[in-house]
Amino acid sequence: MNSSKSLLVQGYEVVIGFETHAQLSTQSKIFSRAPTAFGAEPNTQACAVDLALPGTLPVMNRGAVEKAIRLGLALGSHIAEQSVFARKNYFYPDLPKGYQISQFEIPVVQGGEVSFFLGDEKKTVRLVRAHLEEDAGKSLHEAFHGMSGIDLNRAGTPLLEIVTEPDMRSSAEAVAYAKELHKIVTWIGICDGNMQEGSFRCDANVSVRKPGAALGTRREIKNLNSFKFMQQAIDYEIRWQIEQIEDGHAIQQATVLFDPDTGETRAMRTKEDAADYRYFPDPDLPPLVIGRDWVERVKGEMPELPRQMAERLVQTYGLPEYDATTLTQSPAMAAYFETAAKASGQAKMASNWIMGEVSRRLNNEEKAMEQVPVAAETLAALLKRIADGTVSNNAAKQVFEALWSGEASDVDVVIEAKGLKQMNDSGALEKIIEEVMTANAPMVEQFRAGKEKSFNALVGLVMKASKGKANPQQVNDVLRQKLQ
Ligand code: ADP
Ligand code: MG
Repeated sequence: MNSSKSLLVQGYEVVIGFETHAQLSTQSKIFSRAPTAFGAEPNTQACAVDLALPGTLPVMNRGAVEKAIRLGLALGSHIAEQSVFARKNYFYPDLPKGYQISQFEIPVVQGGEVSFFLGDEKKTVRLVRAHLEEDAGKSLHEAFHGMSGIDLNRAGTPLLEIVTEPDMRSSAEAVAYAKELHKIVTWIGICDGNMQEGSFRCDANVSVRKPGAALGTRREIKNLNSFKFMQQAIDYEIRWQIEQIEDGHAIQQATVLFDPDTGETRAMRTKEDAADYRYFPDPDLPPLVIGRDWVERVKGEMPELPRQMAERLVQTYGLPEYDATTLTQSPAMAAYFETAAKASGQAKMASNWIMGEVSRRLNNEEKAMEQVPVAAETLAALLKRIADGTVSNNAAKQVFEALWSGEASDVDVVIEAKGLKQMNDSGALEKIIEEVMTANAPMVEQFRAGKEKSFNALVGLVMKASKGKANPQQVNDVLRQKLQ
């Protein structure tokens, strides 16, 4: 569980629980064969089953169930051998059939936890459940000259709603949880994680209380679809609730929306209770039965998870925890690192370059790791040339630039063509050092009189005289010798 060290905001403890809707990346809908692809012309991808027209029957998509099993396995949850689909009854323009098929009393995934680092503190958030359900359609408010339209393409898209215990104690912890969960669902290939397109949407339940008091009344911030807004919305909500309480008002349970333009949350509706939804088992769907053999097969197909992989990188390559966590942001980044580390035999150097030079360039160009233009083997070849003293770190950056821009693809060819080879000829170096010492006799005197700073100045002059090709370590050694 979380550490007892408590973070108070103006004397209040913050309590946050999350409900996350992860859209499962199946080809077809959860109960029909209609496609799930995003961005089609409105109302071209909802079929009669998605609309529950009379005479149609829903049929469970096994692919969606399998993705729920993967999540359960990844998070150490219990996977129910039998779970039940229920109708959640409500009317809304984007749900013309009048009910959503969801799971209520018996969800497919039960319990489990998500662990992550907040700074260097390990946090664990317990899960209550994750259940399968269908998405509703979408209201489009700008499309028709001031009128609203309904696009039912999204109706029946498979969702996994992942619900936590109210275990989080700050907006930063909540965002770190959401990022970790996002990493896991994309890593295990059950969700594309595209937040702009709504594939990963979080509802944050927020309350505050005096330390030791019973849980306060929560308000639920709906549909947070960026990590930045998530943090802003929760911070605003915390301040707002504390202000209300300090002013003597009670918090009313409510569903609120965050407006990124004003940075404020605003009540949409007072929150319904479960009773308002008149849940009952869906008579059209038999219980979902998951045999142990199915779970075992999926278990055999699970990839190594990010936390396990990070631990392995620490063990195998002696990386610091921070590097291992950073490098396991995505399977692509971790694979790139491992290839570069193995091929060069320079794990820490590979890590530094990937977290530094490679990531910086990818960010600047808004590219994903999958689009990196320099192969991991090529980076490894460059790292070897740094390690064996052929090029300095600075010269290596120039080589990398040429590789990145596609100017050349062979490390040694670039080093040769650009004349970036480090000077390892000690005779030539000694000559340069002697010249620099003669030309800067006062500096040499100052050093001999005890002014250590003059040494660095002399190293700089030697490097400059060698046009940056001298090996800095060698310059240090030879210069010190000659000065004694
Ligand atoms: P519902 O199904 O009505 O939305 P739940 O009891 O399932 O309500 O809780 C929904 C989410 O709200 C869960 O993530 C839970 O951890 C969180 N939650 C419950 N009570 C509080 C509270 N007092 N403060 C903050 N979060 C809460
Ligand atoms: Mg809920």
